[in-house]
Amino acid sequence: MRYTVAVFPGDGIGVEVVAEARKIIDTVNKLTDVQLEIREGIAGGASIDRYGVPLTDENLQLALSADAVLLGAVGGPKWEPLDYSIRPERALLALRKELGLFANLRPARVFPQLLSASTLKEDVIKNIDLIVVRELTGGLYFATPKGVETLPDGRRKGVNTLAYTEDEIRRIAKIAFEIARQRRKKVTSVDKANVLEATELWRNVVEEVHKDYPDVELNHMYVDNCAMQLVRNPGQFDVILTCNMFGDILSDEASMLTGSIGMLPSASLGEKGGMYEPVHGSAPDIAGQDKANPIATILSVAMMYRYTFKQDKIAEAIEKAVEKALEDGYRTQDIYEEGTTVVGTKKMGDIIAANLENILKA
Ligand code: NAD
Repeated sequence: MRYTVAVFPGDGIGVEVVAEARKIIDTVNKLTDVQLEIREGIAGGASIDRYGVPLTDENLQLALSADAVLLGAVGGPKWEPLDYSIRPERALLALRKELGLFANLRPARVFPQLLSASTLKEDVIKNIDLIVVRELTGGLYFATPKGVETLPDGRRKGVNTLAYTEDEIRRIAKIAFEIARQRRKKVTSVDKANVLEATELWRNVVEEVHKDYPDVELNHMYVDNCAMQLVRNPGQFDVILTCNMFGDILSDEASMLTGSIGMLPSASLGEKGGMYEPVHGSAPDIAGQDKANPIATILSVAMMYRYTFKQDKIAEAIEKAVEKALEDGYRTQDIYEEGTTVVGTKKMGDIIAANLENILKA
């Protein structure tokens, strides 16, 4: 099987962590028949420096023609004085929009070796293995009317609208149920159906879609209760399905239960393909110093094999290779604790790639 992947390292540590992720892809290419052809593109601040814009048409086409996109991170202080319309982050927005990515997936999983990195008690977090499926292109952030208007009496009024059509709800619900089937077969749909009519429709449509997935358990939860349950008993969740705004907040809450931002992968899916990227940014404070944790990006690559290429075994092998590196006591600085060995970005990438090689050969 041959696929193409458009790779955009971006700026700052994006360049460093993507280089390590490529070692993982090279290892899979060497030892399996799933062949990914890398086509490297340029996006973000690096593109502004070279072409004056955060994403050229040529690079957009590169992304559109690939089977999947892998992105490091974009942005940095150098480009902050620029107008919003040509900031590096615009590249991300353009890619998400043009690729039609309507589902954002953020897993939160605690590695047993990092239990003490969380701010919560070990016995509360030890069973966390959940994924937030967030609707990404509709709801309160995009629906109209929106804006700030001036009333006839001179007072200003701000307006945003929470609106969803049933097809928008149906397609994201399907993704959540499909993912649940690959996991522990439980979906918690989060809404505020007791006060928001749009989310009452959400609840009804999710129930309709559920009829096609009788093997998956479905329960509903109000968003305020979900926020509370995530810190009280996060082990109860498998797949959390929710709208754009609730998902924005809950996915940050859920991922931070597990410790460092350097460990958090993400995926955004559309009708076809997908974009994979670490949750973190370009970390200008540590860029170019071989200090960045490449694990978030490497786990994003695992998600790419799982969700776009349907290669669950390869995804699991990559996750095991990461676990083994942690088990053997290797840590980048952000997850260091006493008694472990600090390694740089490159060394961590080499260790994980070597572990993966052993796992795939076994
Ligand atoms: P950031 O995620 O880059 O960094 C926040 C903190 O976490 C920093 O102290 C950083 O050193 C640390 N950190 C982040 N990733 C790490 C890793 N892999 N290993 C070890 N430590 C890590 O967020 P920020 O400082 O708010 O933003 C910096 C720049 O990145 C800004 O220009 C911002 O706009 C951009 N940004 C881009 C994306 C993206 O490309 N998706 C996301 C967020 C921020």
